[in-house]
Amino acid sequence: MCLLTRHTPLTLTRRLIRVSLTLLLSSVLAAPTVVSAEEVVVYSARKAHLIAPLFDRYTQQTGVKIRLLTDKAGALVQRLLAEGKRTPADLLLTVDAGNLWQAAEKGVLAAVNSKLLNQHVPMPLRDPDGHWYGLSKRARTIIYNTTRVQPSEIGTYADLAQPEWHGRLCLRTSKKVYNQSLVAMMIARHGETKTEKVVRGWVENLATAPFSNDTKTIQAVAAGQCDVAIVNTYYLGRLQRKQPDLPVALAWPTAESGGVHVNVSGGGVTRYAKRPEAALRLLEWLASEAAQGDFAQLNLEYPVHRQVPAAPEVQAWGSFSADPMNLRQAGRFQARAIRLMDRAGYR
Ligand code: FE
Repeated sequence: MCLLTRHTPLTLTRRLIRVSLTLLLSSVLAAPTVVSAEEVVVYSARKAHLIAPLFDRYTQQTGVKIRLLTDKAGALVQRLLAEGKRTPADLLLTVDAGNLWQAAEKGVLAAVNSKLLNQHVPMPLRDPDGHWYGLSKRARTIIYNTTRVQPSEIGTYADLAQPEWHGRLCLRTSKKVYNQSLVAMMIARHGETKTEKVVRGWVENLATAPFSNDTKTIQAVAAGQCDVAIVNTYYLGRLQRKQPDLPVALAWPTAESGGVHVNVSGGGVTRYAKRPEAALRLLEWLASEAAQGDFAQLNLEYPVHRQVPAAPEVQAWGSFSADPMNLRQAGRFQARAIRLMDRAGYR
């Protein structure tokens, strides 16, 4: 696999040409171990270390070379828009259904109809029109300080707006798409009026100003700066690997309250892919049993494929009921969620 870093479209093109020439030359000079000259160019907002081992395995198995460019989700979509038909990208990988929906909305993804993808990726986790498919699940749930809170005290996301949590709640900034998607899904389920009341209650209950990331939010709960928070579980998993005694545990909102907000990392074939079939085959492979374990486990997430188990340390957190609503709603209600959080004073 060839890893590209952030470049302008022009330097990217030059670099791709240079890499192609190098590959061509090396394939002429070296023994012909790889028959296929096929390759796929992937733009990814998912970090390289979380997918590079998988891509290397794919190349070994199929002979298909993968060239990877990583950047932030918004920057990659802007790049695809700017490059238009000239884009070298065949596949876009990114995190959060809110971002995947935006990419589809801006017209940079192609609609595909794949029996394998439809079979392996459950309906709530993919675009019904086939523009994007979830490849790993991330649960955004409630955490609490185990020395200050009993698990029985924890209920739903909405309960965190109750007066009993006054001065005890920590949140990540509302600027992060993760929280925009959570609030968007709450609007889709409960309506705007009820959701706004909840978000105002959260703001009322904040122990301190919102944090810039989930890890800092968890550390604040561990330090007793606040008692409860809402975070993605894999950030807790990473901290627990370094500090197994962290006084923080997860709680799962019940199915009756709408269940746990489960989002995805995922991908779609680009609209102007030069190798759409090769891109689709790679996407199908990423959703297959062969790749799903690693795709989810490298980041301590949950596989989307029902037959593939999560990592043992992830399973140890227990099972939960996920919100069954299609994640497309996270995109549809995103703009309203942003305006609502702004009105409610959630910064
Ligand atoms: Fe994340």
